[in-house]
Amino acid sequence: TQTILLASRPQGLPTAAQFQFETRELPAPAAGQVLLQTRYVSVDPYMRGRMNEGKSYIAPFQVGEPIAGGAVAEVIESQNEALPVGSVVVGNLPWQEFVLSDGKGLNRIPTDQAPVSYFLGLLGMPGLTAYFGLLDICQPKPGETVVVSGAAGAVGMVVGQLAKIQGARVIGTAGSAEKVAYLKQLGFDEAINYKTTPDMAQALAAAAPGGVDCYFDNVGGAITDAVYDLLNKHARIALCGQIASYNDTETPVGPRPETKLLKSSARLQGFIVGDYYSRWPEGVQQLTQWYRQGKLQAEETITEGFDQIPAAFLGLFKGENTGKALVKVS
Ligand code: NDP
Repeated sequence: TQTILLASRPQGLPTAAQFQFETRELPAPAAGQVLLQTRYVSVDPYMRGRMNEGKSYIAPFQVGEPIAGGAVAEVIESQNEALPVGSVVVGNLPWQEFVLSDGKGLNRIPTDQAPVSYFLGLLGMPGLTAYFGLLDICQPKPGETVVVSGAAGAVGMVVGQLAKIQGARVIGTAGSAEKVAYLKQLGFDEAINYKTTPDMAQALAAAAPGGVDCYFDNVGGAITDAVYDLLNKHARIALCGQIASYNDTETPVGPRPETKLLKSSARLQGFIVGDYYSRWPEGVQQLTQWYRQGKLQAEETITEGFDQIPAAFLGLFKGENTGKALVKVS
């Protein structure tokens, strides 16, 4: 099988040089094992953090070892009764065309509810991130104003739709005119292109004349600085991601937010979707129900070909994806 190894740790923005393709032999599955053929590989911003050395909430990738992440795969040979041939699974798998697994950590997914790739996006980890971060941490009430940054991405597009289901007014920020148009079509009340808007503070203030009650932060940096000026009393902030700084080599310096949080009695809470692991089944069930009722839409940017995985990953940092970024492997 083909596999992709971490060739070296990046300094700043990763390049193709960090990824090494290798062909490895796989033995036939032993008792208890299955042979998987990878269908879809998920590329996710958090994987950038795993390319660095050092302690975090998830162990770093090792240089010379396969990179791994969310994937959907199909069982093509089985010595495991729980996973017969033809089963489709989602799990954390190495970037390989074929994978030998003992089945641990794999979840079987239904093939009659939604396209199986949705279990990496709307009905998978990113959808659950939106679900728990918005509903548990932000808790928007009808008529409140919600701002979401990185709004046209895998998590953000779900956050905005969930906020609309809750009856909130929703403002999204994203990096292109196409993404802004897409967000309006999804039902966002306002969408702002942060790349072409000279004064984000002014644009956000105009879009949120009543101030901001909830902020779902995927991005950090200057967008977040501008939102913090608009916080209403008892605003809730779900700190989900800071992609604007993932490739920084020095600690970014900006306006200190503490006084703004103090003045608004705001609550800022960082979270990892894994914090809610025990409640994932509830989240998947509710997201699936809203999807089947037509209340939630999915969106994917699918790149074709195993050899395109590094490019699709690097594309996250250039804003190439709308909705969930995936690679179709087979
Ligand atoms: P996305 O699908 O949103 O892809 C990343 C997007 O980020 C790009 O399309 C791009 O859109 C935007 N972006 C890239 N660089 C910058 C930048 N410098 N400034 C502003 N925007 C930028 O990814 P996900 O939806 O999977 O993840 C969104 C965020 O949520 C990330 O920060 C991620 O780390 C975090 N996350 C956190 C989880 C948790 O458990 N806390 C779980 C999952 C994700 P644009 O064109 O708009 O610039």
